[in-house]
Amino acid sequence: MRKFELIQLPYEANALEPVISKETLGFHHGKHLQAYVNNLNAAIEGTPYEDMPLEEIVKTAEGGVFNNAGQIMNHNHYFSQFRAPKADNKPVGKIAELIEKQFGGFDAFKEEFVKKGVGLFGSGWVWLSVDADGKLVITQEANAGNPVRRGLKPLLTFDVWEHAYYLDYQNRRADQLNALWQIVDWNYVDGLL
Ligand code: MN
Repeated sequence: MRKFELIQLPYEANALEPVISKETLGFHHGKHLQAYVNNLNAAIEGTPYEDMPLEEIVKTAEGGVFNNAGQIMNHNHYFSQFRAPKADNKPVGKIAELIEKQFGGFDAFKEEFVKKGVGLFGSGWVWLSVDADGKLVITQEANAGNPVRRGLKPLLTFDVWEHAYYLDYQNRRADQLNALWQIVDWNYVDGLL
């Protein structure tokens, strides 16, 4: 039977420092994400979900199967969209044009995105997605939520679960979110459009 596997990080464990420490990345990827993978594999054994692609499970499942599948899809996206810190890191390509057109500039977009992340009560994710008409949308998703459940195509996400930042930033969620702009791989994000 098919088993989901932990994704390999596309960079070294210390590559995102000082924005995300090696320790945080180690726990976040090696312990938290691994646990979601193990839990999903156990939960789907002997069920029709065994033969379903991850995104299909996220779109259709409920309860524990959804929570673990959603967290795998969310974290796979989160870890894949980063690269080493870069000074004056900015969007490129089509995504840069859309951000300029819809939000009136990168600074205004960042402010809105961080505000939605900080304002999300409890655990969850803030997402940038594109809708069927090609319009950018920022959504707050509680817990394991993913914009595919709303029919949107996910482009970029910041994890606002405490496990994503507590070792490095303690309770300062806004500081972590503002720092993450340095490590976004905008070529990756643009490539998803
Ligand atoms: Mn997380």
